[in-house]
Amino acid sequence: MGTILVTGGAGYIGSHVARQLAERGERIVTLDNLSTGFRSAVLHGDFVQGDTGDAALVARVLAEHGVDTVMHFAAHIVVPESVTNPLKYYRNNTANTRTLLECSVAAGVRHFVFSSTAAVYGIPAGGAASEDTPALPINPYGWSKLMSERMLADVAAASPLRYAALRYFNVAGADPGGRIGQSTPEATHLIKVACQHLTGRRDRVEIFGTDYETPDGTCVRDYIHVEDLAAAHLCALDYLRSGEPSTTLNCGYGRGFSVREVLDQVARVAGRPLTIVESPRRAGDPPRLVASAERIRERLGWQPRHQDIAGIVRSALAWEQRLLRQPAA
Ligand code: UDP
Repeated sequence: MGTILVTGGAGYIGSHVARQLAERGERIVTLDNLSTGFRSAVLHGDFVQGDTGDAALVARVLAEHGVDTVMHFAAHIVVPESVTNPLKYYRNNTANTRTLLECSVAAGVRHFVFSSTAAVYGIPAGGAASEDTPALPINPYGWSKLMSERMLADVAAASPLRYAALRYFNVAGADPGGRIGQSTPEATHLIKVACQHLTGRRDRVEIFGTDYETPDGTCVRDYIHVEDLAAAHLCALDYLRSGEPSTTLNCGYGRGFSVREVLDQVARVAGRPLTIVESPRRAGDPPRLVASAERIRERLGWQPRHQDIAGIVRSALAWEQRLLRQPAA
């Protein structure tokens, strides 16, 4: 087997996938510019600091390490920022992916696993999205990823490269071994924010919108444990290695929790109430976004093991407490 290039391997999801790959004996090299990632999150393999848009560097890394598989996580991910600074997103998430793909094809890379997002669906009718639901993003972040999916499909049609595009729903939780987790101090994601509140980094949690047409008026999402998400990448790799065709798959559990339900879980896990403030809706939030999650199980044989929402919260909280003692570097 060739080496696996993990771009963005110093980031939240990339570092969990890299860890699982190394734990099962894969050879990996991480490429990360450390703009939002942390060197300390790279636990295994070689590390190269640099940009996926640096064609000369990427070509050298692919050649020197004998890379036959690319797992591409490096990206900007803050939806509101993508609205105010779209070109930042189209450069890093789309143009740099184009460069990475060009270098990959030139180097004979055979497999490409791509971090995509449920944001490609925009506001799906009924709030559930299957892979056949039309993709119609409602923000530049979603478009920047969908354009990369399109490039992948076109490149795969014109070259031997095959890919798996994985559309992530709401990722949370951390490494059960306590070594890595979501370390971004300015994170905006609900479970992370609630855990930061519990450890004293924030004095309250805001609920963005309580007047949605959902059972309790708050938005509903499909929260997936990062360990299960990472495992899906290893399944995707095995799938591609066994010669199966390119595929696009949702990564979620197929069940939703409202913001209030999540915050109730957080309070229960912590054993104390949270300070909650009800605020206006946040721009660009679909009321309900839940995966139709059958296809990934059928195609990849993926079997999630961490669906319990309380367990997801416990794991995120444990990491937040660890960050308090030892900030990420
Ligand atoms: N949310 C919230 N308060 C927060 C962060 C998020 O009420 O501090 C809500 C947000 O409006 C959305 C849901 O929680 O309805 C999930 O948001 P998150 O940013 O975690 O993920 P997204 O679904 O935007 O990818």
